[in-house]
Amino acid sequence: MNEYLKHDEWCIIEEGFKPENHRASESIFSLGNGNMGQRAMFEEHYSGETLQGTYVAGVYYPDKTRVGWWKNGYPEYFAKVLNAPTWINIDVKINGEMLDLAKCEVSNFVRTLNMKEGVLERSFIATLSNGNKVKVEAKRFLSIVTSEVGVIRYSVTPLNFDGKISFTPYIDADVMNEDSNYDEKFWEVLAVKSIKGEGYIAAKTKKLDFHVCMGMKYEVCKDGQKQELHPILTEEEKYVANTVEFDVEQDQELSIYKYASVLSSLNHAKADIFNNAQVVVSAASEKSYGSLLEEHVSAWADKWAHSDIVIEGDVAAQQAIRFNIFQMNQTYTGEDERLNIGPKGFTGEKYGGSTYWDTEAYCVPFYLSTSKPEVTRNLLIYRHKQLQKAIENAEKLGFTNGAALYPMVTMNGEECHNEWEITFEEIHRNGAIAFAIYNYIRHTGDEKYLAEYGLDVLIGISRFWSQRITFSEAKKKYVMLGVTGPNEYENNINNNWYTSTIANWCMKYTREALQIVKASNPDRLKEIMSNLNFDFEVETAKWKDINENMFYPIDEETGVFLQQEGYMDKEQILAADLDPAIRPINQHWSWDRILRSCFIKQADVLQGVYLFEDQFDEETIKKNYDFYEPRTVHESSLSPCIHSILASKIGDIDGAYQLYLRTSRLDLDDYNKEVHEGLHITSMAGTWMSIVEGFGGLRVVNGKLVLNPLIPKEWKSYSFKIRFRGNLLNVRVSEEGVGVINEEGEDISLFIQDDEYKIEKESSLVIEHA
Ligand code: BGC
Repeated sequence: MNEYLKHDEWCIIEEGFKPENHRASESIFSLGNGNMGQRAMFEEHYSGETLQGTYVAGVYYPDKTRVGWWKNGYPEYFAKVLNAPTWINIDVKINGEMLDLAKCEVSNFVRTLNMKEGVLERSFIATLSNGNKVKVEAKRFLSIVTSEVGVIRYSVTPLNFDGKISFTPYIDADVMNEDSNYDEKFWEVLAVKSIKGEGYIAAKTKKLDFHVCMGMKYEVCKDGQKQELHPILTEEEKYVANTVEFDVEQDQELSIYKYASVLSSLNHAKADIFNNAQVVVSAASEKSYGSLLEEHVSAWADKWAHSDIVIEGDVAAQQAIRFNIFQMNQTYTGEDERLNIGPKGFTGEKYGGSTYWDTEAYCVPFYLSTSKPEVTRNLLIYRHKQLQKAIENAEKLGFTNGAALYPMVTMNGEECHNEWEITFEEIHRNGAIAFAIYNYIRHTGDEKYLAEYGLDVLIGISRFWSQRITFSEAKKKYVMLGVTGPNEYENNINNNWYTSTIANWCMKYTREALQIVKASNPDRLKEIMSNLNFDFEVETAKWKDINENMFYPIDEETGVFLQQEGYMDKEQILAADLDPAIRPINQHWSWDRILRSCFIKQADVLQGVYLFEDQFDEETIKKNYDFYEPRTVHESSLSPCIHSILASKIGDIDGAYQLYLRTSRLDLDDYNKEVHEGLHITSMAGTWMSIVEGFGGLRVVNGKLVLNPLIPKEWKSYSFKIRFRGNLLNVRVSEEGVGVINEEGEDISLFIQDDEYKIEKESSLVIEHA
């Protein structure tokens, strides 16, 4: 852990400059607006350790796969989240000396991420080797109103001299990915242009032909007075800049306002992109810094009005949940069905791709409750559009008849992950995609989705499962061999309880879905059957047989669901017995030692217990939780939130709270010692789940909302918002009771614990000591 950030309800604050924390801070203080993102590198030159990161949504690079031993079925490439030309930079020279925090004395350094307003701020005093002392203040935001625009205000005030200060705002396309497999650079520059007060670079990716164009415009003010510009213009092969120099007196503030436009060929015709970048940046600079900021802040206020969670009495927990919600809202805004949510969002390169099962298993519940249904619908449509690719992916692995295996990692529907134990075996991802369809319909009531888009995806997925599952003569049951469950610390295991459970559920749900569409839209069913060459009788009969005869490993003695056959043969030691010095084990133990151990990377059986909770009684849930929680090392960020929800479910509120802190402050306090690589964006949705579904006990049962609220003793109260079928509800839980305000929509009935209540529109309900 590394706890260097100050606790505050609305801001993340770093005081004092420690270069060893800088890469971690670049991740934590990242900005994004759904369309682009930016690590919190400094504007001015910095020669210390840094990870350059400028990202444009949907723009990626298929980097040729690098593996030690090629296996048939491996994908040819790994899709890299592409580090794009950087536009935030402003070199600053003070009397000819470059301002570089790695080379001068720094004091009063404060970096602040204002989450309420979506703004990154930084201030410090620097004493250069020439003895000049300056105060610097920088402020930056990526507009969520005009999502192709980023804006910076950067000011320098001399504190002990009169002299010359120069600014060199620039754009640089000579960038590379830290994770480039062959140290290649992925961009080819198409055009550069530097004119007075402006600069542009258009570039394209060497493969796939994505085009981007970054534009900049700037103005300079001395003590608030706009200055005439006499720049030196620089145009190089991959670089454009303007350099402007001014005489400044002691205590006079010299500020530069830099406006940037970031355009990609996802949204612009390639032939127009250069011109459009000029139009967009000119419009931004004409609108001016003040009004761009104002509309940005007010749009953030609106986002918070629908997604905020307020916790009274625990600043660390309040800060953490806001950080998680803020990052989710920065990463995906749900307007574009071609986009998705990468595990690192716009904060780092690791993991590549943009889409994992994380989206369906973790992010979908968050967006369902905090955004309009269209946002989640777009996430589902993304997979629908990739169905054909999922069928081709399954074909490559030998499956037939329209069986669909969605990829573990993807950008465009093609698999790009290349570790055999994951690519070929971590197939439970298919289940999460089916579950998300079910979850979307149950939450929004949008039953039509099934006929329109859901059913063909479900059929493809169920066809895959029915071929992947085989019949064991020895057991006289259906089995699933050679899989990797969510717990990636076990590979190539037989009968992983979670995978078998979700696979079987998929076939059952698909059978139900077929009946629903048959009754509601028989013509559409006919159309789907003919498109997919679907034999209703034969295929559903096979699924039914599997449904009724699936093998699930269970420990006879305790009745615990076994993670896999043979799990009990392992030496049963507990995570608490491990020496803290060797944790996380994945950074200290050999892989074979990890595989042979009983330690569990992330919720596995418990992931299934969580998803299918309504199938189990409380004793079964508790028994499994009590068995698996002590064996789980939570070395995936996706893990503690699920355990926290189950701890709440069984009434272990203290345990739930500890796990909540771990999930919510995972990045802020760097629990897993890896935040320098980027943030764990997708698990942040899980943090939200651990409050709303965990402490709040929110469920949807038979089309109605159910709340079973608890409150950690550390909190005075907490409140959250829920969008549910046209209603917006504000739920507040305190030691005294529960209050629900029906803020938008018609009258609604819901359950609080076992009792049903009706809340009329625009009115509220208060229940004491619920
Ligand atoms: C987890 C996976 C997850 C991936 C991306 C891995 O460490 O084990 O479940 O999909 O990270 O978040």
